[in-house]
Amino acid sequence: MAITSELASLREFTTREHPVVSLYLDVNGARFPRKGDYETEYSFLVHDARRTAADTLHLSKDQEERLDLELQAIGEFLALEYRREGSKGLVIFSCRNEDLWEVMPLKIPVENRLLVDSKPRLAPLAETLSRHSRFCVLLASKEAARIFEAYAGELTEQTDLFDNILKRHTQGGWEQAKLQRRHEIQVHNHLKRAAEAALSFVQERSLERLAAGISSEELWPELDKVLHPYLKERLAGRFNLEISAGSKDILERVDVLDAEIRHQAEIRLLDSLGPELEAGKNYVGGPDDVLAVLNERRVELLIVENGFSVSGRMCNSCGTIAFSEETCPGCRLDMQPVADIVEEAREQALRQDAALLTVAAGHPAMKQAGGIAARLRY
Ligand SMILES: [Zn+2]
Repeated sequence: MAITSELASLREFTTREHPVVSLYLDVNGARFPRKGDYETEYSFLVHDARRTAADTLHLSKDQEERLDLELQAIGEFLALEYRREGSKGLVIFSCRNEDLWEVMPLKIPVENRLLVDSKPRLAPLAETLSRHSRFCVLLASKEAARIFEAYAGELTEQTDLFDNILKRHTQGGWEQAKLQRRHEIQVHNHLKRAAEAALSFVQERSLERLAAGISSEELWPELDKVLHPYLKERLAGRFNLEISAGSKDILERVDVLDAEIRHQAEIRLLDSLGPELEAGKNYVGGPDDVLAVLNERRVELLIVENGFSVSGRMCNSCGTIAFSEETCPGCRLDMQPVADIVEEAREQALRQDAALLTVAAGHPAMKQAGGIAARLRY
């Protein structure tokens, strides 16, 4: 997906000279029916971001002016150019003095945030995207089939696939079929072709999950017979839906499956976390230990309890982060205070190719972990 490669290239962007603004704006029409509604939200965010920048970033006069221009330019873009066109979230990364101006409309909601730093703050976007599975959606009736790719609220129908794969098969089997179960065999062959098309699509695109929609319940045993084991393993669920269903209905069904997958994965992870922390082999917990393994670039997954935030310190020379140490163990320089070291840890984890996960507050394992835990690569 295009947005994933944009994320990868943004990870490389950093500057010392100019403030980089990262805006996450909830533009969901259900919550903010009018354009003015989310513009007002933006002005609140600007107000808070200016105050936070003044308190914690120690910007020079020059940098403060640049920040003002940056925020003003985003405001003008929202007022004059931006159209929602069905998006629920909007992400903007901006540092125009360094030619950075990236606008990303999303079909999934984001939480309002405006962050100012020397680099684009990508962790919220990366985590939001990683929470969604890539789906192949197979819709089938007795006579027709449609295949889609669904990811993060976007749905793309694969019409080419049908022209190339499904229509290439001749209507073979007619002669035998004529004998008696002509219609059943025809349906069976049709579903078999549809399942084969879905299989090659899933493999070609490395899709993680299959969602199957059927027009009537009685088709399920038939489809079950022809689904390749590779697809059955990836089957997230099935639902009844007309073959002519519109994208809104299809996405609603996929959303339910997607949320369930996320929920189950989180439960499994949290249930195993307590014993894992006690075993002390694959996981570490608590700010001190987690920041230490991040500095060693050993983190595979960073887990943070929702709302958990602590201040800490960072070495501006080598980027080492710590919860309480005052001198960088590598450079012997003074570590500078950072208001929210958890967010900085998440950015560093992302740039080390670690996965990010925010979990609901209140699970005993996260309490045991002290709000933050990491699964180690080795
Ligand atoms: Zn250092």
